[in-house]
Amino acid sequence: PGGTRPASARPTIATQVAAGTGAAVTLQGVGKSFGDQVVLDDVQLELKAGSVTVLVGPSGAGKSTLLRLINHLERADHGFVTVGGQLVGYRRDGDTLYELAESEIRRRRADVGMVFQSFNLFPHLTALENIIEAPMAVRGIPRVQAERQAADLLERVGLSDKANAYPRQLSGGQQQRIAIARALALQPKVLLFDEPTSALDPELVTEVLSVIEELARSGTTLVIVTHELGFARRVADHVVMMDQGKVIEQGPPDAIFDHPRQQRTADFLAKTL
Ligand code: ADP
Ligand code: MG
Repeated sequence: PGGTRPASARPTIATQVAAGTGAAVTLQGVGKSFGDQVVLDDVQLELKAGSVTVLVGPSGAGKSTLLRLINHLERADHGFVTVGGQLVGYRRDGDTLYELAESEIRRRRADVGMVFQSFNLFPHLTALENIIEAPMAVRGIPRVQAERQAADLLERVGLSDKANAYPRQLSGGQQQRIAIARALALQPKVLLFDEPTSALDPELVTEVLSVIEELARSGTTLVIVTHELGFARRVADHVVMMDQGKVIEQGPPDAIFDHPRQQRTADFLAKTL
């Protein structure tokens, strides 16, 4: 299925989406439910290219679901998501939207990198092989070229000496830095982090946050879910506070952290600090 099935309820809104904003990621009136549980409720976001957005909020707020929508792992029930000006999950023909075929969704998913809490490296592949796998398989890049790029990425995450190590031979912090290098290898338009340090022993958190901070400075568009509020304050251009499926406030880090306008934000920050 897919590819030819019109999403018939949506043609008029397609025209609004077509207006475009030049933003790296937009969410326009996005709603998502699982069964009768509303997990995202009319979420409106616009993330500028090259910006760093930090998503905060209590467990169950819908943060991971929001990332999964940007990464084509979930489909919105209402509204639209765009990445790099392209609609997630649909192609447009005039005013009509068509659901994309799974093969096309897979291709577009390569535009969005994702780093998870649990590093998710392939255990039977070395660090280098983990990094070159997707560029070769998804982008068809020749091995020599993929290896050269991987060497640069390993250097960038400070692990040039671990190219031939297997994940089990690496610390959690090192595995997560390899996972970041692997995500970067596809040169994504946007890189998403879902609590990238939550599974790490405390002494390993800093090395991973440093790599992400370095990326933030390099102008990569990042969306980061984290409870590391000091880090968030340092790297974020934009902080989005979510609760119960809603964006309850958003703004620059100083505004959100020092002068929250919502009691729920103040309560959450007090608990998390
Ligand atoms: P957060 O990342 O902010 O903790 P999530 O996006 O993971 O929040 O989850 C939001 C809510 O949606 C939670 O109540 C969760 O149980 C529910 N949820 C998430 N994914 C699914 C799913 N695939 N099926 C059913 N419920 C889900
Ligand atoms: Mg989550």
